[in-house]
Amino acid sequence: MKGKKLLAGVSALALCASIAAPTLASNSPNGNLTNPNQVYSVKGFTDYSQMVDRLKQIENNSQGRVALDVVGESNQGRDIYQARVGNGDKVILIESEIHGNEKTGTEAILNILQYLGSSNSPEAKQIREEVTLVALPKMNPDASELDRRGNDMSWAEVQAAFPQLADVGPTWNYYTSPNMQQRDYSQNPGFDVNRDFNPDLNYVPKAGDFPGNSSLPGWYITPESQTVRDVYKSLQAEFGKVDVFVDIHHQGQYYVEGTDDLVTMSLSADFVPDPNTPEGEKYAEYADTYNFDFSKQLNLAAYNALQSLGNNSPFNNITLYSQNLDLPGTALGSFGLNGSGTILFEVRGQSHSLGQKKKGQLVKAVETGLYGIINGVTDGSVNELDPDDYDNIPLTSYRPGI
Ligand SMILES: [Zn+2]
Repeated sequence: MKGKKLLAGVSALALCASIAAPTLASNSPNGNLTNPNQVYSVKGFTDYSQMVDRLKQIENNSQGRVALDVVGESNQGRDIYQARVGNGDKVILIESEIHGNEKTGTEAILNILQYLGSSNSPEAKQIREEVTLVALPKMNPDASELDRRGNDMSWAEVQAAFPQLADVGPTWNYYTSPNMQQRDYSQNPGFDVNRDFNPDLNYVPKAGDFPGNSSLPGWYITPESQTVRDVYKSLQAEFGKVDVFVDIHHQGQYYVEGTDDLVTMSLSADFVPDPNTPEGEKYAEYADTYNFDFSKQLNLAAYNALQSLGNNSPFNNITLYSQNLDLPGTALGSFGLNGSGTILFEVRGQSHSLGQKKKGQLVKAVETGLYGIINGVTDGSVNELDPDDYDNIPLTSYRPGI
């Protein structure tokens, strides 16, 4: 397929996760929206202190339905919050802003917590009965406050925390450049936290595993990834498994395959090769837990909810993100191997290229997709979806089709 080839050819640039992002910006089909001399405002987004205030307000107004807890601390000492609502035995874990310049997920999470915490509607009540929703909004708050991708942590700080790393150099995902996505990391470097996960949830850093690369697992060297890992393990201990994990990101500005329509959001279920296939043999120990079909069904639940908003609306411009990846250091890759149904949201435009423009529309897209997943899990309808339909979701093109 033409689109598939195109995707494969540019996938290294296309990843939201790519460290080649400055190149991407200048090559973007909408490169004119990225003016290196312009500062794009993100004041319309909820900052860290506003988020904390709002979470407390949501908890206070929820009549005990929403439980707010501090579950960890960022490297710069900011509390990392968990909000939990519902008493069902199906667990949905959602995180936002693992990359701090990818902000719509936090807005959507706050809106959903507000609704599920305060509404007496039959729908909200049913969700609370069937599902336990656990949210980690702004899980990388130091990056959020700097409006940048990487956290705020030096390699020397990692070595101080892990003396066994005293004689090895920094990891491959360590940012020190004076200009990475228009941010200066030279004075306060940091790590891509979304390469610091490992499917072995009990992994302890070993010098021989450094500096690593994108197709190898991460190390849990950052306090932010450690916090999410610890939440995940505690939910496993309480419920047996974490049924669903959603990670909300932003990407560049691309096109729906074969059209000149800008993608509003891309989805994906695919982060590592299936351990049940020859390509995924290195993950064979996870063959019994990995459930690609369930991840596909969950993605379809999000996709269908967005399509149902009507023909020719921006909410219909939903595509698949790059497929056939091998990124075990991502939270999605690691948790997918541990048996969670996994869904990636990649919302259009990052804050260095789009700022707060289109915020309302993009937050609504995220919210709609999340409700598609939550509702599908609540009533069990997600299990009736045909996983093969996942392959009918349009692909992403990096240039207009017409
Ligand atoms: Zn991202």
